[in-house]
This record gives sequence, structure tokens and C-alpha cells, in this order.
Amino acid sequence: MSVSPSSGTPAGHSTWLEIDLGAVAHNVRRLKALAGTRLMAVVKANGAGHGAIPVARTAAQAGADWLGVARAEEGLALRAAGLTLPILVLGYTPPADAAAALAADLSLTVYAADLAQAYHAAAHTLGRTARLHVKVDTGMSRLGLAPADLPAFLELLAALPAVTLEGIFTHFANADDADPAFAELQLARFAQAVAVLTPAQRAAVLLHTANSAATIALPASRYDLVRPGISLYGLHPSGEVRCPPDFRVALTWKSVVSHVRTLAPGDSLGYGRAFIAERETRVAVVAVGYADGWRRLPPQRNRVLLRGHALPLLGRECMDQCFVDVSRVPAAAPGDEVVLIGRQGDAQISAEDVAQRWGTINYEVTSGLAERVTRIYTSAP
Ligand SMILES: *Cc1c(COP(=O)(O)O)cnc(C)c1O
Repeated sequence: MSVSPSSGTPAGHSTWLEIDLGAVAHNVRRLKALAGTRLMAVVKANGAGHGAIPVARTAAQAGADWLGVARAEEGLALRAAGLTLPILVLGYTPPADAAAALAADLSLTVYAADLAQAYHAAAHTLGRTARLHVKVDTGMSRLGLAPADLPAFLELLAALPAVTLEGIFTHFANADDADPAFAELQLARFAQAVAVLTPAQRAAVLLHTANSAATIALPASRYDLVRPGISLYGLHPSGEVRCPPDFRVALTWKSVVSHVRTLAPGDSLGYGRAFIAERETRVAVVAVGYADGWRRLPPQRNRVLLRGHALPLLGRECMDQCFVDVSRVPAAAPGDEVVLIGRQGDAQISAEDVAQRWGTINYEVTSGLAERVTRIYTSAP
């Protein structure tokens, strides 16, 4: 196997992400076909590190009907970038931020009377209508009102003239588990809660429950709209609930060798002298560090690809640099491409592999990628 050692290091970058928007578009189309209903592309947390704006534009062109964000400020950034799809803020919007959110046509999540009244007041002052989605807690115990409180809450909303009830939703605690029992219980609680709607109310609202895992594994959860996030990027909701095999991974993370040196026995390496060579050791210095989102862990818990080999790190990772053992790869040289997540030749490291080594989930690995890591979009939306 031959691996081009420095295939296309982009000028001016020492660590960067290559993000295949064609993969995102493909995954959006596949999710929509799979769900057979409307799709809200959940692009919170900067599109789980992939870049919320390019991902949102791509999703919109690939047929997404809605965009979902965690916070109002994320929705405002999408509006400022010219996104015109309906946007739902899935999390808490402080009353002080409601006017700006409503002025930007963001739909808000509501689950308490004081919030409903605050959003109503803000809308009234603006001469607008607040479009609200009521969140029902069916077992996540995070945001949401009790199912039994829904009828009274709907009455309260109906009495507020500057409010429109646009949706009712819930969120699953473990739809990514191999055992669907609790997700099914949550779904049953949701179905029971919304059974109080009159036919006219039912026809006027969007009911939605499904994150990626439920969209894939729990067809009854799809209702009027599905809300996938992680699967947009071709990342698996869990080891048990995986994207269909034809989904495409969007993200590759690369860096470059800046220097190669040989340690003599007894030489120490880096901060804390955390590695001391017992024998002659070839070390490549690589231009990526913990400030890029590459977790500072015992070095055997991080690996990278270099000239097609998976190689362990050495010593202690620095803020902007780290050390790779290239004793097995004598040809390693400054300028060589290093892959942290992605493929190189026949070798591959997935975000899931990295998550497993770090003791976390793929969601945290990509959403923790630092802003200074340049995003390079390899296929136009
Ligand atoms: C994050 C989130 C989603 C998307 O979840 P994924 O597991 O990334 O598909 C959907 N709905 C809500 C309320 C969320 O917070």
C-alpha cells in the first residue's frame, strides 16, 4: 500500500477538518426517506463541530423542513447567515432574550406558565405572534411539563392572543439503547398526553419526538417531524443503534508533522519529562494539541495515522503540539500528513474509536473540536 505522505496540506493551516457536505446532504435525504415525514436538522453546538451554517445550508438544500438549535443565539446566527427555514430553539430561552428571538422568527420551547407569559408579553410588545412548542417530559426529567399538566397548559396558551401553539414534543432518554422498553414507555406517555387534543388542535400542531436513534430504530416515534442531529454527520447514535450502512461520515481531522528527531537512551520528551527513552526512539512532533480539542490523556489512549500506520503518542500532550512514536516508520518526515479522525490508505480511525479511547461518546469528540481548527468544506452544498 502506498500512502502519499502529504496529500494536500492546505496552505496556512497546521490542523484542519475536511468536511464533506455531500455526505451531509446524502444523510439528510436518507433520513427523510427513512422517516417518511418532515425533518428538522438539529445543528446545535456548531453542527456538532462540523459548522452550523454550512451544515444548515446543506440540509436546507437537501430537503430539511426545519432547523433545530439548543439556544436562541445559535438560531440568531443562522438567521444572520440568511437561513430562512423555520427554526426551533429546543432549549431554554431566558425571557430577556425572547424579544430578539421572536423578532428573528425563531420558534421557542415552552413548558412553564411564567415562560409562556413572558414570551407572550415580548411578542405583544413587538406586535408579533410567538410561535411556541410545548415540551412534555415523558421520562428524561430535564425540560418539560408533566403529561397530566398539558390540558391546563394548552388552555393557558389559548388565552394568550399573541401566542400560537405550533408544536408539542418530547425527548427520549435512551432511544439509543439495545432495549427499546423505556423509549416505548416514553412514547406511550406522549401518545396518552396528546390524546387530549381535539381533531382541530391535532391538525394544527406538529407532534415530534424522534432524535437520530428513534428516527432509525423506533418508527412509531416519527409522528409529524423527526429531529436527527448526530446522524446528519454519519455518526452513530450508539454502538447498539447505528446509522444504516450507506450513511456517509462527513468529517476528517488532519494535522501535519512539524519536526522529526531521534531520542538517545535517557533523553526525556516534553513537559514533565513524561517520557524518557529507554532505547533510541524516533519521534515526530505533530502540530495539534489539547487546545484543538484533542484530549490530553495518557498517550497510549491517543493514536494517529501517519504514512498509513496507526501510531501511539508519546509523553505529555501540549496545548498546540504532541509527539508520535515513529520508530516503526523510518521514512516519517516533516510535512507528512497526520490523520486524527478519518482514513489514510487502508487505515482508519473513526470518531467512535476516539470516543472509546477517551471514555466518552462521539458527540463529545466532534462537538469539542476547537474553533481555531479550520473547517475546509470539500464538496459544495
Ligand atoms: C440534541 C437533540 C436532538 C438530536 O439528537 P441526536 O441524538 O443528535 O440525533 C433532538 N432533539 C432534542 C430536544 C435534542 O436536544
